[in-house]
Amino acid sequence: MRFLLGVDYELFFGNPTGSPQACMIEPTNALLGVLEKHGARLTVFVDAAYLLKIQQAHERIHRNAFDQVARQLRILVDRQHDVQLHVHPHWLDSEWREGRWHIDTQRYKVHDFASDVLTGMLQEQVACLHNITGLAPVAYRAGGWCVQPFAHLARPLSTAGVRMDSTVYSGGSSVNPGREFDFTGAPTDDFWRFDDDPLVPDQDGGFMELPISTVTVPPTFYWRMLARRLRPDDTHRVFGDGKALSGSGAYYLRKLFAWESGVASIDGARASMLPRALAARRRLGGKVLNVMGHPKSISRVSLRYLDDFLQTNSGAFDYHTMSSFLELEDQPPATNSNGASTIAG
Ligand SMILES: [Zn+2]
Repeated sequence: MRFLLGVDYELFFGNPTGSPQACMIEPTNALLGVLEKHGARLTVFVDAAYLLKIQQAHERIHRNAFDQVARQLRILVDRQHDVQLHVHPHWLDSEWREGRWHIDTQRYKVHDFASDVLTGMLQEQVACLHNITGLAPVAYRAGGWCVQPFAHLARPLSTAGVRMDSTVYSGGSSVNPGREFDFTGAPTDDFWRFDDDPLVPDQDGGFMELPISTVTVPPTFYWRMLARRLRPDDTHRVFGDGKALSGSGAYYLRKLFAWESGVASIDGARASMLPRALAARRRLGGKVLNVMGHPKSISRVSLRYLDDFLQTNSGAFDYHTMSSFLELEDQPPATNSNGASTIAG
């Protein structure tokens, strides 16, 4: 079984946003401590819109933050981990005033920008990451999973050198206004090629989709999360020191009253569901477990769950990054009739 872990390396987008030290640097170091013990590899999907924002800022606090983040990204690459592209474009409209970020999410999705503007934006972000690490990103994960309609992004992404997406998770959907996505009906294969719709395999397509693995989340999971808010417990406290954007009432109600297809994740108590995510992949005959997370949202408890999970499956996993996976599979692979790919063995 190939195992990948890709984390979205970013601040929070509520008020406060939290600091890069607590949301990105410290938890990523703690995560590396666990992964490297097992020889596992990490892919960080860097919110490159934020990175450019702090690189171009005049304040010393941001210049220092940029230097620290750049140093961590170089260390990651030196140690065989991977740096890829994640974009939250609302950083273009957000401002630093009176010692804090004032976040404007009216243009939350990359789709809120015209295609030629987006092309320039992605090229600049990719160049920024390339300058830091010496490697050009080849994989993309959409901010807030907002990757649809993909046709709007296809040319800007390919112009920026992106050949792979890892945003889709089978059965997932969101009804948050302005942040909707719908992955119901997505294939459950390990990966596939596509052209302008990542939900529709096309063996001649220019992109590869490596979907995030899923786990069925019962409503009780969210009830327990609510209960923990009432009785805070230090081991469950997340590293990040900011607040998430709030969702709509319908978004929360659905979670509290219906089973949902969620991402296999190391965030908070979700990490306890990793064994179930692995069992689900095996039931489908899958040969890839692609887990996600956010450094800002991990806790001591999630690191312990991840450590136990990797220990238990140490003999079963072949550790990959997005780059190493793409390198292996970018040749036109053996495909079945609908263009979905299979891994031998
Ligand atoms: Zn994100």
